[in-house]
Order: sequence, then C-alpha cells, then structure tokens
Amino acid sequence: MNSRFDLTDNRALITGGTKGIGLAIAEEFLAFGAQVTIVARNAAEVQKQVEDWQGKGLKAFGLAADMSSVAGRKEAIDFAVGKMGAIDSLINNVGTNNRKSTLEYTLDEYQALLATNLTSVFEMCRLAHPHLVKGGKGSIVNIGSIAGITAVPTGSIYGMTKAAIAQLTKNLAVEWAKDRIRVNCIAPGFIRTPLTKDLLANQSFVERAQAQIPLGRVGESFEIGGLAAFLCMPSGGYITGETVVVDGGFTTKGI
Ligand code: NAP
Repeated sequence: MNSRFDLTDNRALITGGTKGIGLAIAEEFLAFGAQVTIVARNAAEVQKQVEDWQGKGLKAFGLAADMSSVAGRKEAIDFAVGKMGAIDSLINNVGTNNRKSTLEYTLDEYQALLATNLTSVFEMCRLAHPHLVKGGKGSIVNIGSIAGITAVPTGSIYGMTKAAIAQLTKNLAVEWAKDRIRVNCIAPGFIRTPLTKDLLANQSFVERAQAQIPLGRVGESFEIGGLAAFLCMPSGGYITGETVVVDGGFTTKGI
C-alpha cells in the first residue's frame, strides 16, 4: 500500500531546483526516495545545494545551465541521463517574470519571456520524451500559474505563457498517453519565493490579495512540492492532462 505513495526508483529532472518552488519540489522528491537532478544558472548555488543533499546521503546531482538556450536544454537532458540512466519524472519549473503594462514591453522582452517560460517547456518535453518512454512510467509536471487562468497584475506576457503551458499539457497528455507518459500542470497562486519577494513585500498589495483569498494567506513552496511529488507517484497514476490550481481558493472566489 505504502509503495503507492513512494518515489523509490524514480529518476527526476527538476529545472530551477535551487530556490523557491523548484527547491521545495526537489526536497519532496528526495524525501520520497527519488534520485534528483536539478538545473539552474548559478553554478555556485547548484553546487552548494547538491553537496548539502549528498552530505545527507541523498541521491542528488546538479548542473549549471540555462533553460532558455538550445545548448543548455540539451546539456541538461544529457547530464541527467548520464547521471541517472533515464528520466521518469520531468518537472518543468523554470519560469520568470518582468511585470509591466502591455504597452511598455519591447519585442526583445517579449521574446525573452517566451524563451524562458514557454519554449523551454516545449523543448524540454520533446527532448525528454525518449528517456521518459524508457522507464515505462513517465510523468511530466509543468509549473503554470493562476495568471494563465485569470487576469492578475503580473503582465500579459507572463499570463500568455502560463495559459499556453496549460494547453500544451492537455495536448501532450493525449498524444503521449500511448507512450505511458502522463502530463499534468500545477497552477500556483501567490507563493512566497525569491521571485515574489518584492511583490509580497508590498504590504498594501498583500492585504488586497489576501482579502481575495478565501484561506486568507499566501502559500508556501512546500504546498506545491507535495502535489508535484504525488503527481509522479503510482497513486497519481490515473491523472493526466490536468491543471491543478493551488491558490487558497483565489480563482474559485467570485464576489
Ligand atoms: P524563483 O524563486 O525565481 O526560482 C526560480 C528557479 O529557477 C531558481 O532556481 C533559478 O535559479 C532557476 N532559473 C530561473 N531561470 C532559469 C533559466 N533560464 N535556466 C535555468 N534555471 C533558471 O521562482 P519561483 O517563484 O520558485 O517560481 C518557480 C515557477 O513557479 C515559475 O515557473 C513561476 O512562474 C511559477 N509560479 C510561481 C508563483 C509564485 O508566487 N512564486 C506563482 C505562480 C507560478 P538561477 O537564477 O540560478 O537560474
């Protein structure tokens, strides 16, 4: 029974695993017995995190690479497969934002956000496909956002990329079910991480947001990490194509 809530023998590649939500996901996978490879751009932070885990006897590997670049994505897949033999779980967590009003964005800024938030996910899914097939229990979890579901003041480009991720999730879930790969998306609400540090330091914004959140608070990264792990476990084995919203009830609330 417990083996259904277990990730032993699971090999997970988690992009952006040094901070915030990605770090929480990596820690959850490790706690459930998975092997984990993380990728982020800051080499010193990757090394420090991996050494910390390895010092505790955990099976963790790390690479410094940029998910917005063709070379970085290829390197990440090759590295993960080299270290772990295959990939059973791919967590596309990398994403960033540049909050502006729509008329202020330059085309370069538009393209940079698309490259980091969307092209990276599309390409990582395609590159990981043969390795996910190999183990016979492939699971992809894409990190979307409530900004892809409803209009929040995050900037239109961020919202567009997150909505596209939810749609990509549905298409791949149907297309790759025959390959025994499940594909799901998590859409977090406001979660306390380095990405939202400045936003959530603005007390009047927090008060306004909390008034719209039935649970009355912002979320914590571990509240995303547990769900990502569950979606890759045998217990989550009949779930595919879903976007699971984790937002304290924010998008459910009307007036
Ligand atoms: P974060 O605190 O900024 O952490 C991002 C992680 O990704 C870091 O490890 C960062 O390390 C890495 N990273 C960023 N760009 C990268 C790139 N181009 N290549 C490789 N690694 C990269 O972000 P977060 O708040 O945890 O957000 C994680 C995901 O959740 C994102 O997709 C975000 O859109 C989504 N999300 C967050 C919230 C929220 O409230 N926090 C809400 C909804 C959705 P380096 O800087 O060293 O590369």
